[in-house]
Amino acid sequence: MFVDSHCHLSFPELHGRIGTILDEMAQARVERALCICTTIEEFPQVHALAMEHGRLWATVGVHPDNEGVHEPTLAELVERAALPRVVAIGETGLDYYRLAGRSVADMAWQRERFRTHIRAARATGLPLVVHTRSASDDTLAILQEEGAGQVRGVFHCFTETMAVAKAALAMGFHISFSGILTFRNAEELRAVAREVPLERCLIETDSPYLAPAPYRGKTNSPAYVPWVAARLAEVKGLSVDEVAAATRINFERLFNIPALVPAPLES
Ligand SMILES: [Zn+2]
Ligand SMILES: [Zn+2]
Repeated sequence: MFVDSHCHLSFPELHGRIGTILDEMAQARVERALCICTTIEEFPQVHALAMEHGRLWATVGVHPDNEGVHEPTLAELVERAALPRVVAIGETGLDYYRLAGRSVADMAWQRERFRTHIRAARATGLPLVVHTRSASDDTLAILQEEGAGQVRGVFHCFTETMAVAKAALAMGFHISFSGILTFRNAEELRAVAREVPLERCLIETDSPYLAPAPYRGKTNSPAYVPWVAARLAEVKGLSVDEVAAATRINFERLFNIPALVPAPLES
């Protein structure tokens, strides 16, 4: 049994065929998926998915790339985070990849938004789903300033260096690997994945994006997360079942979701 720790089933590429996607997940033994929110405007749809389907859970947050959307206040995040089946704050973080002619100094609004999300994680006790791209120094520094030792979470769709992974692990964070792990040119990332302790690894699709090989370039879906598990298993010299079980248990613990396989009853 597999879990997808990060997908966007509310996005138009996937939302219209949710029934098919759930069927495909069942066939692929993908038992659970976390639906990630990227704007406050989108939240009702993300939350409805989790309320309507027992295998889905939801987050609340505003992606760092999203401009011209409602800027969330701490109170707005906390209020939504209290709803049933909302298990994390995010995705949030920093993304300096598309500066579009601006300097890093111009991105103060992103850093302020990130701080608001970290405060929401502290206020609610929920873990953070962190997105970082071309911005790892600031991401780590702000996490230290705002949440050191007090927030947990995951660096999702990890593509950073081993040094960044070590810093995230030292702060108690998990590291989530996506379909990028299966790409031919991802040798450096596979070297990082080899070193990240299994008890801190998660797997994800980030669907509809980043479909793993052999589906690269196609619309991704949570049903493809076993391909990520298979590659992680190969990299770590483990069986797919071992990686599937460990990443499922890590997911359940981090997001405080009842265990899919109950512990055996004491007689
Ligand atoms: Zn992301
Ligand atoms: Zn995402």
